[in-house]
Amino acid sequence: MLRDCLIIGAGAAGLSAALWCKDVGLDALTLERGREAGGQLLRVYNPIKNYLGAQTQNGRELRDQFLKQVEAARIELRTDAEVSSVDVQAKQVVLQSGETFGARSLILATGVRRRRLNIEGEREFVGRGVLKSGALERGDLAGKRVCVVGGGDAALENALILAEVCESVALVHRGANFTARREFIGRARANPRIKFFMQSQVQRILGDKTVEAVEIRRADGETFILATEGVLIRIGVEPNAELFRSQLRTDARGYIVVTSEQETSAANVFAIGDVANPLAPTISGAVGAGATAAKVIRHRLKN
Ligand SMILES: Cc1cc2nc3c(=O)[nH]c(=O)nc-3n(C[C@H](O)[C@H](O)[C@H](O)COP(=O)(O)OP(=O)(O)OC[C@H]3O[C@@H](n4cnc5c(N)ncnc54)[C@H](O)[C@@H]3O)c2cc1C
Repeated sequence: MLRDCLIIGAGAAGLSAALWCKDVGLDALTLERGREAGGQLLRVYNPIKNYLGAQTQNGRELRDQFLKQVEAARIELRTDAEVSSVDVQAKQVVLQSGETFGARSLILATGVRRRRLNIEGEREFVGRGVLKSGALERGDLAGKRVCVVGGGDAALENALILAEVCESVALVHRGANFTARREFIGRARANPRIKFFMQSQVQRILGDKTVEAVEIRRADGETFILATEGVLIRIGVEPNAELFRSQLRTDARGYIVVTSEQETSAANVFAIGDVANPLAPTISGAVGAGATAAKVIRHRLKN
């Protein structure tokens, strides 16, 4: 059966596209690899205050509002449905299970994932000292020493959050300067609990049952061991675009390039949300792009 549209990913962007497809009368199916829809919203533990029309305590609460609305609209959404290959010209999608779907148009809404250091101990100690979120886990870290890796907003913001309760926070950044906003840098510099390790890289995360230390390498090549009970890695994100990269135009960092109508370099293949938005990834942007793609597809199919 050839649908009007297949939407890959059910974060803010994909859910918005699904709602709008329904609203403009398109027969659309949304495929989400996670057990539940929501994408990054499920990992936002701080209050959301900048999404117009809704203020929530965290991302999950906003996700619940989105889900309530799309469920009421009876959109067709499949979770636990990981797309393993896509033929953008033929507009055919294959799931990991082997199931195949075809459509007249595609909307790619696969978002981004956190970059990893790919070092010893990073995966092994998840949940045993390698932290998921400073805001979420700071209660368990009161009075302890932690290490935050990175130099952007997320790293500095988490260092400040952890410094409220931790004995000390080691901020390890490979660059000579932070890329975070000035307000965070100023507050971090003024905080006596935050120690700075610039032009330095964490090479290994060490421990027995839980994290006990990190090995740090300085720019001059010298390495040393720093005792720590927690490690939070915040070194940016990368787009989930591997499935499409060889078939579509992408930028130097692998983000999908789109027109103002959200269309990719392939006709009737659209990309929305963070996977196509390296400079301004926001919930508002993702939701708006979903609406644009659905309305443009409606216009194309009608004509
Ligand atoms: C800690 C944190 C705080 C934030 N705070 C704010 C804030 O205050 N305000 C704001 O506007 N924004 C905030 N953001 C950013 C905001 O969450 C994102 O811009 C937005 O949620 C992106 O939505 P998306 O749908 O494009 O991508 P995502 O949420 O990444 O969703 C992509 C979805 O695609 C699915 N997927 C990927 N590959 C496949 C595949 N092969 N098959 C099937 N499904 C697939 C994923 O499982 C995921 O569910 C924050 C982000 C984080 C991490």
